Amino acid sequence: MHGLMMHRPLLQGELLDYAAEGFPEAEVVSRRVEGDTHRQSYGETRARAVQLSFALERLGITGGDRVATLAWNGHRHLELYNGISNIGAICHTINPRLSAEQMIYIIRHAGDRLLFVDLTFVPLVEAIKQHFPDLRYVIMTDAAHMPENRLDAFCYEDLLQGENSQRVWPEFDEGTASGLCYTSGTTGNPKGVLYSHRSNVLHAFSVAATIGPDLGKQPRILPVVPLFHVNAWGLPFYAPLAGASLIMPGPYLDGASLWDLCEAESVQSAWGVPTIWQGLHAEIVTRGRKPAALRHVVVGGSAMPRSLTAAFEDMGIDVNHAWGMTETSPLGSQGSLTAKQMYLPRERRLDLKSAQGRRVYGVDMKLVDEDGTCQPHDGEAMGRLFVRGNTVASAYYRNEQASADAIDADGWFATGDVASIAPGGVLTIRDRAKDLIKSGGEWISSIDLENLAIAHPKIAQCAVIAMPHPKWGERPLLVVKSVAPDDPATLDDIKTLLSAHLAQWQMPDDLVFVEDMPLTATGKISKLTLRERFADHPMP
Ligand code: ADP
Repeated sequence: MHGLMMHRPLLQGELLDYAAEGFPEAEVVSRRVEGDTHRQSYGETRARAVQLSFALERLGITGGDRVATLAWNGHRHLELYNGISNIGAICHTINPRLSAEQMIYIIRHAGDRLLFVDLTFVPLVEAIKQHFPDLRYVIMTDAAHMPENRLDAFCYEDLLQGENSQRVWPEFDEGTASGLCYTSGTTGNPKGVLYSHRSNVLHAFSVAATIGPDLGKQPRILPVVPLFHVNAWGLPFYAPLAGASLIMPGPYLDGASLWDLCEAESVQSAWGVPTIWQGLHAEIVTRGRKPAALRHVVVGGSAMPRSLTAAFEDMGIDVNHAWGMTETSPLGSQGSLTAKQMYLPRERRLDLKSAQGRRVYGVDMKLVDEDGTCQPHDGEAMGRLFVRGNTVASAYYRNEQASADAIDADGWFATGDVASIAPGGVLTIRDRAKDLIKSGGEWISSIDLENLAIAHPKIAQCAVIAMPHPKWGERPLLVVKSVAPDDPATLDDIKTLLSAHLAQWQMPDDLVFVEDMPLTATGKISKLTLRERFADHPMP
């Protein structure tokens, strides 16, 4: 027997409608490429998204069409999220750090009809435009800042001008696709993850239920995570649901700019990858204090080093270490402490915060060994991590082979990560399967080594890669970017630091230095590039 409750579609547009009505004091603040700081309410954001939706329809965009964006975090990008998706079209966010080749591939693969471009990226698009004879362009600025361009582009503000700012969003099935994001594809071509209205609304509730309570009422949140990758971790949907203000940094992502923005806008919670927090931390040390209101950061995308978590915690900034992927919308687990855990001794709290937290409700997890046998959640057993749930991809967009490879016979998604899960449900990501080092039949976690080595005061960034070894199969090589290249750490120094935590056979066999760490399009250290660069390095 079915229950007798109404079944209303879960549509993203209702989140913005809700904020426009219920949180008139909440703000969307944007540092813009043009150099100014812009402020508007959710009501104004909604009005402009409505104008945009009419403009899109005038340009012939209808349900299911892909409309692409190449833009920083700012109010116009948020308007695009809403104006495009709320009429049933699909907002395809493009990562500007992709190579030209990858960008050409995904624009073609997505079949984009229109491309909205921030001023910064106009030259980049001009350089590849010959590959898309039918694509039309909009430059995201006003008439006064419209550049000379070879795109025959519309001007964003001109498009909105004169359009009606009121409409009831059309109603459609909640399973309708709303957004498209390609994973950066360290191997092979990028793969498209196609979000639905339902998955994004459920994800917003998931953020609200797990991280929300630590943020207080109507917090001021800084998404350093880009709107161009995994929906800025769901903040464009969570923030209007919770009445949170969004403080958008635009292109200004260095430590000093973030410090200034946090201070000027009373940011309470900031979200981003560990490399961003290294920059902000250095700035805090230089200035001798943290931005006054900042009391919470969410970190994910790669493992947060324990030493950095400790430094933030000691300044009174609560670190929430989360795990997720493009394919999981992204929140899969998060590290908000329970009421009881908050009173644990410092080191025990740091142990918990160095792990990737509890799975969120609605994301099921299983660990599977190489033979396909499920492993216990006892904190010891390691296995390949599989997930399933309403916010997890069931397939890749127009890519049957990649979809078949990713989904197992029971419908679970293979994350490519190797993990353990402790009895309290706390997930620890041991490594990406392809980054684990197999030495003499035993596994060495590159993440563990990196997290310990980064605590060395002479190391700014480090990565551990597997090198082939005639006797042991593979051995770890430590790649280091020094704080001061003329005063580097030695292998012996580092081994002394590691010896408190690791056995001799787990230590790196050699050390090499780089001036700059190669990064992937999502700001993570590119181990693929390091493996290629040091392929011929002679190991001792
Ligand atoms: P891409 O690498 O293409 O940017 P994602 O952003 O989807 O793709 O990255 C997902 C991967 O990032 C995960 O599978 C995992 O390996 C890694 N990751 C994400 N969060 C964490 C974390 N907190 N700790 C360790 N690894 C993480």
